[in-house]
Parts: sequence; C-alpha cells; structure tokens
Amino acid sequence: MPGSAFITGAARGIGRAAACRLAAEGMAVAIQYHTSGEAARALAAALRQQGRSAAAVQADVRDRASITAAIREAEALLGPVEVLVNNAGIARQEQFQDITDQGWRDMFAVHVDAAFYAIQAVLPHMLHEKRGAIVNLSSIWGLRGASCEVAYAASKAAVIGLTRSLAAELAPSGIRVNCVAPGVIATDMTAPLGPETLSALAADTPMGRLGTPDEVAEAVAFLASDRASFITGQVITADGGFAL
Ligand code: NAP
Repeated sequence: MPGSAFITGAARGIGRAAACRLAAEGMAVAIQYHTSGEAARALAAALRQQGRSAAAVQADVRDRASITAAIREAEALLGPVEVLVNNAGIARQEQFQDITDQGWRDMFAVHVDAAFYAIQAVLPHMLHEKRGAIVNLSSIWGLRGASCEVAYAASKAAVIGLTRSLAAELAPSGIRVNCVAPGVIATDMTAPLGPETLSALAADTPMGRLGTPDEVAEAVAFLASDRASFITGQVITADGGFAL
C-alpha cells in the first residue's frame, strides 16, 4: 500500500484545506477530527467521490492513547503515514493573570503534547523507511509574541523549538521536520474576534487583507512534498508580511 498523510484537526479551517491539497497531489489522507465528525466524514466522502483515498478518524490529540489509536486506524485503512501534519489548535485571548492552570495546560496539550505523541506514533515506520515529512503548525505569535495570548504564543514558540531540534536529530535518518507559521487567517479560530478587530488586523497586514486556509495549505503541501527535499528545520511564515 502506498503511504498516506495524517492531518490533525482536518475537518475544518487550515487542516481541511491541507487535507484537500495533499489529496489533490495524490496522497491518501487521514482526516483526524475531535468534535466535527459530520464535517470530517463529509469531506472524506467528497474526496473519495473525486477518486481520492480518504478516511475520517476521531481522536483527542491531548491524549496519547487516543491519537495513537487514530494513527493506527488510519494506517490500517490507508497505509503507513509518510506525511504528518500537526495542525489541531485552540486559541484564547485573555490577560496573563487570568490564565488558569487548566487553560495553560490545555494550550500546551493541544499544540505541544499532541505533536510529541503523534510524532512518536509515526516515527518507527519513518525511521525504518528512512523517509518522511512532518509539518507542524506554529503561528507568527510563536515567533514574535502577542499581548493577551501568552499561553498560545508560548506553546507555539515551543512548537518551533520542537521542530528545529527534531529536524536536526532526524535529518541523518532522511526525515524532514518543518513548520508553517500563519499570520491572521479567516477561519473559525479568528471569527470570534469580530469584524472590527479583523479589519484592524487586515490593516496591520502589509498585504492589506487576511489570509485564506488555502494559502496556508500551499505552504504545508510544499514542505510535505519532495519539492522541499533539502529543506528541514525551517519556519515558513504565510502571513502577508505581518511579521516583517
Ligand atoms: P480552527 O478552524 O479553529 O480549527 C481547529 C481545529 O483543531 C479543528 O479541526 C478542531 O477539531 C481541532 N482541535 C482542537 N482541539 C482538538 C483536540 N483536543 N483534539 C483534536 N483536534 C482538536 O483552526 P485554524 O484556524 O484552522 O487553525 C489551524 C492551526 O493553525 C492551529 O494550530 C492554529 O493555532 C494555527 N494558526 C491559525 C491561525 C489563524 O489565524 N487561523 C494563525 C496562526 C496559526 P474539531 O473541529 O473536530 O473539534
């Protein structure tokens, strides 16, 4: 069986766009979801109707047993994972002194623990094959910091540290690890900010607008592909110039 791509949080937003892009490039795609089962199953069915291989698998990425089981289920259906996209994410705006222990832990669990668990689950096969690509979703806030998003930014900075260190460790084994750091993208994550804040963020973006999930998915697909065969440990921003 040919290899597959496993994308976390792929029922909607950037993860969904990445799954569609990777499927269009001919990869079998595992659409991991947490609560959006209906959307995930509908996407898998739509991709299958287009002649692609796709399956929806449920997991809570904060839980090692849950994400590992989902990866095993996907492998049984679609073949071994050659591309892992750690995309699932949560965001929350609050002042630092209002962050609870649970809120802090959740942020790191969804962004950092999840990547740790998922990567450990796919690595044995990648190490055996001396081949594989891992793409982690960070954020421009993980590069430059953000007021009222300390937990989010700290966890996204940790994703960059994980990416760079693991890239160095796995490069001799033929496995590439990279990061995409989106700017402000129009998804369910940013919608609660409201039209006024979103307009201000668009104005703060040198390109004068928000990004689309498809624009981030292009960067993910590039880093996942052999077109990026000599690129590892990098952070590509897809932000319309926001972080410049
Ligand atoms: P989104 O539309 O809010 O979607 C979040 C996704 O994460 C959903 O698919 C959700 O799954 C999944 N998820 C959340 N908690 C989970 C858990 N415990 N277990 C498994 N899956 C879980 O987000 P997005 O805007 O597409 O963002 C995707 C990634 O890009 C995130 O890592 C985010 O931090 C990063 N990013 C986004 C922006 C932006 O402006 N949108 C900017 C920078 C970085 P269910 O729906 O199935 O529950």
